[in-house]
Amino acid sequence: MNNCVFCKIAQKEINAYIISESENFLSFLDIHPHAPGHTLVIPKFHFQNFKELSEELGIEFIKIVKETINLISQALKTNDFTLGINEGPLAGQAVLHLHLHILPRFKNDKGGSIHSVVFNQPQQSLEEIYEKIKNASES
Ligand code: AMP
Repeated sequence: MNNCVFCKIAQKEINAYIISESENFLSFLDIHPHAPGHTLVIPKFHFQNFKELSEELGIEFIKIVKETINLISQALKTNDFTLGINEGPLAGQAVLHLHLHILPRFKNDKGGSIHSVVFNQPQQSLEEIYEKIKNASES
C-alpha cells in the first residue's frame, strides 16, 4: 500500500535490520527499541489486523515468530519475552499494517507484565460478559 512504511520495508524500498524472512513474512529490528533485540514481525503484503490473518498463513506466521525468538534468545542470552500486538488505534497501533512486537526481557529491565497495559475494570459481571461473548459466537 502506498505510504505504508512496513510495505516499503517488505518491498526493500526502506532498509531495515532483517532478522528472518519467509515467503510471506519478515522480521526486523524496531527502529525505536524498547529493549535490546526489540523486533517486529510483519506480513509482506498489506493488511491491518491480526483478525484478518488467514488460517493458511497462521502457521507460517507462528513459524517465523518462533524462529525469530530462537535467534534472539541465542544471541542475547535470554529465554524470556513479551509478545504483543497493538490491535487497532485504541490499543496503541500507530502503523496500520499488522505487526507483532517481540520484546526480549532481562533481569531488572524496568518493564512490567502484560497486566500493566490497561486497567479498565469491567462494570458488568463475568457472567454477563461471558453470555455476550457466547451469544456472539453462536450467532
Ligand atoms: P505500533 O505502536 O504497535 O504501531 O508500533 C509501531 C512500531 O513500528 C514502533 O515501535 C516503531 O518504532 C516501529 N517503526 C516505525 N517505523 C519503523 C522503521 N522504519 N523501521 C523499524 N521500525 C519502525
